[in-house]
Amino acid sequence: MNRKTFLTTSLGLLGATTWSKTIVKEKYTSGQLIGKESLKLYSHKIPLLTIAGIAFEKMQKAALKEGIELKIISAYRSYDQQKSIWNRKFLTNKKAGLESEDNIKKIIEYSTLPGTSRHHWGTDVDLIDGSKPQEGDVLISEKFHQNGPYVVLRKWMDQHAANYEFIRPYTNNSERKGFYYEPWHYSYAPIAIPMLKAYSKLNLKKTLATTNLEGSVSLSEKFLKKYYTENILGIAKELKAF
Ligand SMILES: [Zn+2]
Repeated sequence: MNRKTFLTTSLGLLGATTWSKTIVKEKYTSGQLIGKESLKLYSHKIPLLTIAGIAFEKMQKAALKEGIELKIISAYRSYDQQKSIWNRKFLTNKKAGLESEDNIKKIIEYSTLPGTSRHHWGTDVDLIDGSKPQEGDVLISEKFHQNGPYVVLRKWMDQHAANYEFIRPYTNNSERKGFYYEPWHYSYAPIAIPMLKAYSKLNLKKTLATTNLEGSVSLSEKFLKKYYTENILGIAKELKAF
C-alpha cells in the first residue's frame, strides 16, 4: 500500500467512526425507500431531506470561499421520474437494435431500475461546478479528470466532502462492481446508511412489481439477485457500514 492509499483509507475509517455517532435512527416506509411517497425536501434549490440539505448548504458555502460553485444537477428523484428515464433509455436502445437483456445491461451501466435509485431517498446528489462552462452532457467522468472543467471541484470534494458527511458511493475502485464510476454523485451518509439498511430488508421482486416498465419481463429472480449484490451493494464500503 503506498502512502497516498494508506492516508485515504485511514481517513475513510476515521470518517466512518464519526458517522456512527450522527446516524439518523428513524423508521423508513417502503414507499419512502422506493420513491413512491413524497418526501419533505429542504428547498427547491436543494431538493434533499432537511438534515442533508442543511449539511449540503454548509459545504456549498465553504466551497464557494474557494471559488467553487456546488451546483446540483439532480438530487431527489421520484419513482415515476426514474421510470421515465428508464423507459426512454430502453426505447432508444431498442430502436438501436438491442435485445431486452443487453438493453437492460446497457442501461444499468449508469442508471438504476426505478425503485432502486439512491436518488429516491433524498440523501443523494449529482454535482458539477457551476462557475465553469456547462456544455452538452455534464455528468461524464472525463470532465472530472485531466483538463476537464470539474477537476477542481472533484479535488475539493475529495478533501472536504467527508467533513460534511457526504461520501461518493460509485468510486473508481476497480474491485467495485455494479454502476460505473460517478465522480459527480455523493450520498449524505448519516441518513443513506440506515436507509440502505432498511432497504436491504425489502423483498425486491415484490417491491419492484410495477406496470408500464419497459423490459420488466426480463427482470428474472436471478437478474435481481445479481443486481442487488453487484449494483445496489456495489458502493463504497463506508456507506455499507451498518
Ligand atoms: Zn446520481
